[in-house]
Amino acid sequence: MARYVFITGGVVSSLGKGLASAALGALLQARGFSVRLRKLDPYLNVDPGTMSPFEHGEVFVTDDGAETDLDLGHYERFTGVSARKTDSVSSGRIYSNVLEKERRGAYLGKTIQVIPHVTNEIKDFLAIGEDEVDFMLCEIGGTVGDIEGLPFFEAIRQFAQDRPRGQCIFMHLTLLPYLAASGELKTKPTQHSVKELRSIGIAPDVLVCRSEHPIPEKERAKIALFCNVRPDAVIPAYDLSTIYEAPLAYHRAGLDQAVLDAFGISPAPRPDMSRWEDVMDRLTHAEGEVRVAIVGKYVQLEDAYKSIAEALTHGGMANRVKVKAEWIDAEIFEREDPTPWLQGFHAILVPGGFGERGTEGKIRAAQFAREKGVPYLGICLGMQMAVIEAARNLAGITNAGSEEFDHEAGAKRFTPVVYHLKEWVQGNHKVERKLGDDKGGTMRLGAYSAALTPGSRVAEVYGTTEIEERHRHRYEVDVAYRDKLEACGLVFSGMSPDGRLPEIVEHKGHPWFIGVQFHPELKSKPFAPHPLFAGFIKAAKEMDRLV
Ligand code: GLN
Repeated sequence: MARYVFITGGVVSSLGKGLASAALGALLQARGFSVRLRKLDPYLNVDPGTMSPFEHGEVFVTDDGAETDLDLGHYERFTGVSARKTDSVSSGRIYSNVLEKERRGAYLGKTIQVIPHVTNEIKDFLAIGEDEVDFMLCEIGGTVGDIEGLPFFEAIRQFAQDRPRGQCIFMHLTLLPYLAASGELKTKPTQHSVKELRSIGIAPDVLVCRSEHPIPEKERAKIALFCNVRPDAVIPAYDLSTIYEAPLAYHRAGLDQAVLDAFGISPAPRPDMSRWEDVMDRLTHAEGEVRVAIVGKYVQLEDAYKSIAEALTHGGMANRVKVKAEWIDAEIFEREDPTPWLQGFHAILVPGGFGERGTEGKIRAAQFAREKGVPYLGICLGMQMAVIEAARNLAGITNAGSEEFDHEAGAKRFTPVVYHLKEWVQGNHKVERKLGDDKGGTMRLGAYSAALTPGSRVAEVYGTTEIEERHRHRYEVDVAYRDKLEACGLVFSGMSPDGRLPEIVEHKGHPWFIGVQFHPELKSKPFAPHPLFAGFIKAAKEMDRLV
């Protein structure tokens, strides 16, 4: 039976609860325990799939096809444990389950209430898979006191109460603001936040205090006393130069020890921190720098491409170079020649995206990379743009385009080399979708396998010819154009096992030009950089000699 750590936050949002949870997961693993991390989000969307990346950052897709919060990406990057559909839930999902059961008559005519019906639904969710791991770390989104969060706080309180003593602990993150005028760190907001938590029946076992300044021993003792937490369980959390320092920093601050102490696990197994020491060594001892241009749409908000930014860093770590990623708005290339913008970059990446806006600019970026021999990685929409570019400029299909843009415009303007996919095979069953289906559920989502052509660049990059990668898209390159495009040098080097869906394209004779229909960034880890990102940055590094 798993032990549970419930992670909550107070005082302000954006304290880095997700990172603290992920780092704790990594630290428990370093001590030989198995872990699973879970996120409970108070918002009312059923899942983040339909939320704008501007609002919510990236949508992280799991192997089993769930569209989840980007925090699950952090969890995976720090622990290497593949998240599942059942590792992310929102109030929207909980309420929708409860209401669906009510319609089915599952509550036998009872009045449906937050306590116990909503809280029971949350508790059932928390218990899923509890026999599989040593520790289940559950992070509650938002801050204590938020109206939407209340049922979750009540549910974790009940959950701990239902279980044998010692099976659950509570870890709370707060902020110690610094008053420059008096030169002091203030503990009052932390005291209030803990008071708020205790008023709903939760007494924290571990307090993680974010601070921009060193926390004097005196203040730590004061927090312990006023918040009724052991002094050793008041853990300082200072700003870090990189998120990957978090496991080592939290270990030095005593977080894992405090958690094991709270469970009474003694003697605690000794930690092996070598994985994180190696990660930090690679990050801090980079030799040289490569510049990568990311030509995309959501350039104002870096969180929209969180996993790509991280995977590029990992690719740099694999090659011991620092990667400087610069975001360029694709729409600029619709008005201006891309050359002055793109020359000087060692590589070009066109990420995923939805809708027509900016796509002509992305096509021009792909053309620039192809013609100038600059390493190119096209991800999902970035692959589709590379195919359209080759179709227009090499195969002579001058009005090649994607059905996505025609659908959006409500007019037929393009020859669709990228078309809307209505049925496909997943494992051994057929999936069918209509264009007008429910917005949340019309995509090819989650892990699919692909067969790579032996001898292709991509087979060399992966070192294998069978791969499995995560998808999130509605449209697909039309295999009908394969012969025509291959005759012009755009090779279809990865296909779905049934040979119907192009998964990877590459330009023959180009130093490194690969487009992939899936999202490799979702599977990259600092301690196991994804081969495509490692290969892409290696190619970028080699460009250095040309510049
Ligand atoms: N909009 C494209 C599609 O739906 C690409 C999606 C993506 O890049 N994730 O197929």
